Amino acid sequence: MAKWFPETTTQTKSQEKSDTSDKTPIESIVQGKTLSHTYYYHFAANMPTDAKQVFEEAVATYNATGVVKLIEGEGTAKQNRITFFVYSKATSTASQGLIESGHGGPKIIERTGWGAYTVNHARAGLNMKYPQMGIKKSVAVHELGHALGLDHSGSVTSVMYPIDHGRSVLSKMDIAALKSIYPESSR
Ligand SMILES: [Zn+2]
Repeated sequence: MAKWFPETTTQTKSQEKSDTSDKTPIESIVQGKTLSHTYYYHFAANMPTDAKQVFEEAVATYNATGVVKLIEGEGTAKQNRITFFVYSKATSTASQGLIESGHGGPKIIERTGWGAYTVNHARAGLNMKYPQMGIKKSVAVHELGHALGLDHSGSVTSVMYPIDHGRSVLSKMDIAALKSIYPESSR
């Protein structure tokens, strides 16, 4: 989940941490799982063009790493799949000014016994309720990161920092975490 904090309008240079300090964590349900690096992605029905566009940009960002390979298509039950979607959710007063801009995550399916396989049928969504905050490349990159198995990072250089501040370029630590989920042997 990425949030947008209205009061946080600027990030000063002194808040920037070194790119080598904080490792980008991996979602616990993905840890220790052997997943193919190939994913088939498709859009839910009635996706607005601008939402599709930012997800396409996010797909290109991850494909550029060479660590994962995202291909447009439905995929099969035995293949990794990602569904992109939009939703509309108003912020409650309990959220203390934090606006939800999107959510996403992995869903691991493991079949054991003969013909055993492990796949990830993931989802990544953008909140249309506040389109100026939700329909952004940085949010799409963050939610797709969750779908692929990345967890929140405390580093402001990471796309997995929980509060959206417009960062859509994967940090070295983000790519390192991705490589640990999808090692050379899965490619
Ligand atoms: Zn998040």
